[in-house]
Amino acid sequence: MIADMGFHLPPKEGDSVIDAGGGCLLPGLHDHHIHLMALAASLDSLQCGPPDIQSAAALAALLSKRNTMHGSGWVRGVAYHPSVAGDIDRDWLDRYVPDLPVRIQHRGGRLWVLNSRALQELGVSSGAYPAGLEHINGRATGRLYEEDNWLRTRLKSRPPNLARVSGMLASYGITGVTDTTPTNGSVEWLHFQQSQSSGQLRQRVRMMGSQQITHCEETGLLERGEFKIHLLESRLPDPDTLGRDIAAAHASGRAVAIHCVTLTELVFALSALQSAGVRPGDRIEHASITPPDMLESIRDLGLRVVTQPHFITERGDQYREDVEPAEQPWLYRGANFLAAGIALAGGSDAPFGNPDPWRSMHSAVTRATHSGRVMTAAERLSPEQALSLFLSDAGSPGTGNRTLEPGARADLCLLDSPWEDIRDDLDSRHVRSTWLAGDLIYSAG
Ligand SMILES: [Zn+2]
Repeated sequence: MIADMGFHLPPKEGDSVIDAGGGCLLPGLHDHHIHLMALAASLDSLQCGPPDIQSAAALAALLSKRNTMHGSGWVRGVAYHPSVAGDIDRDWLDRYVPDLPVRIQHRGGRLWVLNSRALQELGVSSGAYPAGLEHINGRATGRLYEEDNWLRTRLKSRPPNLARVSGMLASYGITGVTDTTPTNGSVEWLHFQQSQSSGQLRQRVRMMGSQQITHCEETGLLERGEFKIHLLESRLPDPDTLGRDIAAAHASGRAVAIHCVTLTELVFALSALQSAGVRPGDRIEHASITPPDMLESIRDLGLRVVTQPHFITERGDQYREDVEPAEQPWLYRGANFLAAGIALAGGSDAPFGNPDPWRSMHSAVTRATHSGRVMTAAERLSPEQALSLFLSDAGSPGTGNRTLEPGARADLCLLDSPWEDIRDDLDSRHVRSTWLAGDLIYSAG
């Protein structure tokens, strides 16, 4: 805890004294939307999409190098986007890697493309395959939608070591994360808990997930988050079923967090919440496309929004081509969420977005795409508003910054310069030290 604050505090015996040299001291940052295990796995995967890979030829060359993961024998790729080589399938992959199992995940995280060898390894036959494996004319295409649990079971994959991810997050000044993976259950709970007690994972975790975690025991570092609902426009659930899920979560004392990246998903989610009723803490994740009247509905329902400003930088050039021109001004809004009186917080959505919150803040302030075009300057945030996206409490995103005061947790992020200098140069290289509960978890150079 922070014991005391003031000028010229006399050090007690055993205290270490740090000269911050005028640098700004902040509460440790909190990433309100991240997928820790997927991020750990992605650090060991081939990047198969923009900006690294921009063409079919480049992807073919990358795959032909056949890097396999840790002797598992599998080639694992992530971040694929159809702008690279279209809607690829098993046959496309077989052309470049016929002899090793390959799986490539689409950038959105819901679709894996498997080659023939992978289908064979997973024991897929004409009689036995999961519902999410697409078939055309009775033959598997290799495209597997939303079957991560099945995939994990079949691969018998052990949960990844989180030490590298944790060290990376600490270097950005992050002391807490909300893991928003919808399939999180008791296995993931145990893995986070063990990773924290062994020291591999040095951040606090608020874990969303299924109803399975409703009875898991919380610790000082691991708390239960919202019930996560993942809407998919092409397969929307029956509205009554969704209403019952929301009501059941509320009845068990949990708020809900609903994934909405399209306009249809948002309309559907808001109408479900209108009929099922809202609970303080209910959240909309992403709110990627929010027209003006929906801003009002979100505010009137008292929902919080957790968004990703950096997608404007990372994906903005693609959005300009793919998203209806009329909807483009509504993409990943910033200032107008705040103007509408909506509680707004930020999350990286890593590994689907860059894990560095300073990049996200920078995007929120500039609204510049990768190629340097500005998308909807009217949605720009001030540097202070951008920083605030990552300063609210895990359990109440967007409802005010945590403050440094005696009695508060000593989760701290020390920058190398005063805020007046940092605000024009939002960059994680300014993070000098990070402490979790008074323990140093990162120190630059
Ligand atoms: Zn996500």
